[in-house]
Amino acid sequence: MPQPNAAGCGLAVPFSHPYFMIKNIAITVVGLLCAATLRGQSEPSHSPVGSSLPPTIHKPEQAPSQQSPPPVAPASTASAPATGQPKVEKNPPPLDPRNMDTSVKPGDDFYGYANGTWLKNNPIPPEYSRWGSFNELIEKNNDSLHEIAEQAANLSNKEAGKPKIEKAADADLQKVGDFYASGMNEQAIDQAGGEPLQKELQHIDALKDKAGLTDEIAHLHSLGIQALFGFTSGQDDKNSTMVIAQALQGGLGLPDRDYYVKEDDASKKIRDGYVAHVTKMFTLLGDSPEAAAARAKAVMSVETSLAKGSRTRVELRDPQKNYNKMSQADLQKLTPDFNWDSYFKQLELTNPGAINIGQPDFFKAVETSYQNVSLDDWKSYLRWHLVHNAAPTLSKDFVDENFAFFAKTLTGAQQLKPRWKRVVETIDGEIGEALGKLYVADHFPPEAKKRALEMVNNLKDALTDRIRNNDWMDEATKQAALKKLAAFTVKIGYPDKWRDYSLLTIDRGPYASNVFRSETFEVAREMRKVGKPVDRSEWGMTPPTVNAYYNPNMNEIVFPAGILQPPFYNPTADDAVNYGGMGAVIGHEMTHGFDDQGRQYDEVGNLRDWWTAASAQAYAKRTKAIVAQYSACEPLPGLHINGELTLGENIADIGGLKIAYAAFKKAQAKHPETADQKIDGFTPDQRFFLAYAQIWRANQRDELTKLRLATDPHSPGRFRTIVPISNMPEFQKAFNLPDNSPMVRPASERANIW
Ligand SMILES: [Zn+2]
Repeated sequence: MPQPNAAGCGLAVPFSHPYFMIKNIAITVVGLLCAATLRGQSEPSHSPVGSSLPPTIHKPEQAPSQQSPPPVAPASTASAPATGQPKVEKNPPPLDPRNMDTSVKPGDDFYGYANGTWLKNNPIPPEYSRWGSFNELIEKNNDSLHEIAEQAANLSNKEAGKPKIEKAADADLQKVGDFYASGMNEQAIDQAGGEPLQKELQHIDALKDKAGLTDEIAHLHSLGIQALFGFTSGQDDKNSTMVIAQALQGGLGLPDRDYYVKEDDASKKIRDGYVAHVTKMFTLLGDSPEAAAARAKAVMSVETSLAKGSRTRVELRDPQKNYNKMSQADLQKLTPDFNWDSYFKQLELTNPGAINIGQPDFFKAVETSYQNVSLDDWKSYLRWHLVHNAAPTLSKDFVDENFAFFAKTLTGAQQLKPRWKRVVETIDGEIGEALGKLYVADHFPPEAKKRALEMVNNLKDALTDRIRNNDWMDEATKQAALKKLAAFTVKIGYPDKWRDYSLLTIDRGPYASNVFRSETFEVAREMRKVGKPVDRSEWGMTPPTVNAYYNPNMNEIVFPAGILQPPFYNPTADDAVNYGGMGAVIGHEMTHGFDDQGRQYDEVGNLRDWWTAASAQAYAKRTKAIVAQYSACEPLPGLHINGELTLGENIADIGGLKIAYAAFKKAQAKHPETADQKIDGFTPDQRFFLAYAQIWRANQRDELTKLRLATDPHSPGRFRTIVPISNMPEFQKAFNLPDNSPMVRPASERANIW
């Protein structure tokens, strides 16, 4: 799922919730550590600071770089392989044979064969818990965003003398610059400690009764802190032209409800670590160790009851079960003690209309907790969610403690990212279209859009053929599927209509205040949509993001500028490499429209069954084979992939690669002279599969692997490579592999949907 709205501080707003069905190609850790969004890269030939300013940035007459905040980092160090810093090679060849390990046979372990030397030579940098193709892109892109933010900060620095911002259009530049400067002002941030939270903490302490509690929860929601449950707006699943209010399960601090209920030793250890962490955070707010420990225990108890009432991630994959539209009166009956009228008023939602309650049983658990938990324990719970959300914006002691549990313990990362990187990621999460507008001006050539669109059209043709010619769908279902495919909206690069941030104030005051104001702005924007027709021009990811998605309610596939670059798409590469990389990404997103969830939506984005019973049955039979194939995979000793949790992504990986291969063959037919042309000794077909393996190369710490096996709908990179290829006879043929190779699946066992 994309997480632009979620990024800020691990805030679980719209798209980061497992309930929301937007399907992306890859995901980082579920919004734990402030803005873990996958990010894009810069052009390999990107010029140094000052020599190539985006058109929207006016070069000042005098460089104000000596002025006080922010510190300006020398741009030349951007991607230098400094000790302990991530190193990213500039301008690597599209497919570098030096990354392979030819001592491994392709038929024994294709992932090791294609990536072995790269995996050996690229240990995980201390600040990461995973290091792979996506991270390399993110790293390069962070360098670009860093330069943009530094320039913006210099240009918007009023203390430098003359006003540098000349036009209203530069309002975005001012916001990016001041946001960055406030985030980089480490001295002020450290001096303030927990001070930016004082007003909110006093508010919570002053609560007198349950009526006040309702209002306080609404108030925290308006700050983007989703205490107790999630609340946002979203398309009506059965009337996709309209936006309605959506109330969802949530309110937990740990990444998933399973962490609270599982009885194995590892889960218990994490729970103990969590309680110790919450205790520590309370002491940082000034509580005595005893009071802090008692409060942490109360938090754990509230969250455990909410977790027990929550659906599992596999259960959340059923869109029909998540659709429970009801009137406010019926919602009030579901949770009699929670005053919804008052809640909506606080959020300035004057006419909420019918509301979708994603998980009604969860709201029964909310009601029970509301009745049984004491007001003092609620205060502890709310204090915790406030400080947890704000921690990354506070002083060093809060940042370090947050890192120690949520990054080190849960993902294995060893070292905090440099401040500039954390700040840039937060800006991308909070006002990503302002930053993204500056980014695309300099980093997204118009040709890239044209060529991406060409590939999308070729992939569409290939999928059309496969739908027409498959032997398991009946004619009526095929016609409906083709109608849906033809209706796909394609978005490439960046939005046609940029988000208007003019009502948002960003200044050089406290960093935490900028984040709170941005969150408030975003929540208000979501609330204003309720009861109105959907705006189809909106994007769910920011332009620099190294990711892509399919949104079933919009029936659209979306490819941000960030991913349309090497190694996914390389203008200098042969078709084999581009179809094995970007082609597979495009195919993946298209296939989501027809995976086990996406297929339940029709061509206008409504949850409506358009399948005949016979075709639906034939489909279900085929998905069972895919569940079995992935459930058999064991990324860590004793820990298997959850074949049901990852089913939609696995269908998209297998289908996407097949469609990309078919489109590659179509492209090749237009240039028959290239059909047998070897490069570095590899045939075009071999390069297609090697390029596919290349995009999934990654080293990952065991802690993160465990976390992701529990929460991520995507399979680990190694299995995203070897399972799809094992289902393709074209792969066996390309490398001339014997039938009994471990990488080759017998014809009778292959998974074949698309
Ligand atoms: Zn996906």
